[in-house]
Amino acid sequence: MLDGRIVDMASLGTAAAAGDDPSAAITTVELPPGSVVLPAFVDEHVHIFAALAARTSVDLSAARSLAEVLDLLRVAADAARRHPTGSGAVRAWGIDEFDLAERRLPSVAELDAAGGDVPLVVHHRTGHAVITTTRTALAPAGDGRRDPTGARWRVLAEEAERLSRELAGLGVVELCDTSDGNGAEDLRALAELGLTQRLRAMVGIDAVSAPNAVSAANAVSAPNAVSAVGGVWSAAADTGIDIEAVKVMPPRCGLDRVADVIRRAHAAGFAAAVHAVDIDELQAALDGGLRPGDRVEHAGLCLPEQVARLAASGAMVVTQPTFVTRRAHKYRAALSTVEQAWLYRVRSLLDAGVAVRFSSDAPVVPPGPLEQVAAAATRRLGPHERVDVATALASVCRPAAVGDPADLVVLAADPFDVEQAAVAGIGVVATWRAGELIHGDPRRWPSAPPPGARR
Ligand SMILES: [Zn+2]
Repeated sequence: MLDGRIVDMASLGTAAAAGDDPSAAITTVELPPGSVVLPAFVDEHVHIFAALAARTSVDLSAARSLAEVLDLLRVAADAARRHPTGSGAVRAWGIDEFDLAERRLPSVAELDAAGGDVPLVVHHRTGHAVITTTRTALAPAGDGRRDPTGARWRVLAEEAERLSRELAGLGVVELCDTSDGNGAEDLRALAELGLTQRLRAMVGIDAVSAPNAVSAANAVSAPNAVSAVGGVWSAAADTGIDIEAVKVMPPRCGLDRVADVIRRAHAAGFAAAVHAVDIDELQAALDGGLRPGDRVEHAGLCLPEQVARLAASGAMVVTQPTFVTRRAHKYRAALSTVEQAWLYRVRSLLDAGVAVRFSSDAPVVPPGPLEQVAAAATRRLGPHERVDVATALASVCRPAAVGDPADLVVLAADPFDVEQAAVAGIGVVATWRAGELIHGDPRRWPSAPPPGARR
């Protein structure tokens, strides 16, 4: 790498011969025996504020019965009651009825009994449901990013630093925040977290379709235009966060309005990214006018004939291989064997010519690109959808060509030399984002951020 970019050794020779001597800036590093250099990793679908909220909440994800859930909440409510400076409410995350022996969520009466005078806010593992005590009107709303007292914000910002370090330790240099409610303020809040990862973000349709919204092209050429689009575009320009797409959320807009939202996204100059976990959602996306540049998030269930239609649309699929391994018990319980064959496809999509990228959907499952690679190569549910390690790596690595930012990782072992399942356990020794070392021993590895880099 040179000036934070990937260079090709042959062109270095040519540049040196031309009298422009780049060799002065080149540092040679010796790799530990057995280790390899790869392009660094991207997590293509995450919810950063939800992940931070989950990480700073009571964790219910390991509970296996309602009694366990209610015990955890009772203990947390007791602690909140004794804490004079606390917000007075308990936030919990990670409940999923499929994990509980009773196969149901607690009732409001049960939550009220556990919380007593302390309001409880309990978030479902999927992020798509919240159950609360009857006293919850007293609890602060939202995840705290607009907390006027700033107390909750400080907690989130500190957690963001830890999350960012962990991601760098997993080799992740880039994230796409796919939260459908994102608007200009949220982009600014995301930037303010100061993650070391490069960010892209989706925005909600409301952020780009206010009554006086102008097209994206107009917003760029006329930055003073007073419009919602101008708002997200100037937030994107100010923060350096690229807008990936408009997130289309059928559970929110209704299946019958998916086509309309896709059309409005395109009309405003944005790609569309449609959340499609079940067959009906995918069908609405396919009937809604998807085109190249658009994305389907999850494609959780995909009929054989939908594979061909996805390929014809030119849209990319962003899937979650570790859902299939970490949540296998849920799918085995909820889906017929026929449906299990349609679950989180990879092989058949690639064979049909669909571009596929991997992601965690954190906080739904923890981030971990190498775990995703191992899961895609060794999954037991839908084994016909397995891909080899090389193919799986291509779905997590940041595409790297000469001239691109030097986003690189050093892995402790060669993923082609170990058992496929063992790829998940390979350590990441060093991670560079655009030449800047963001993980690894700074005495061992060089750090050469490009001239004019952020820091
Ligand atoms: Zn998601």
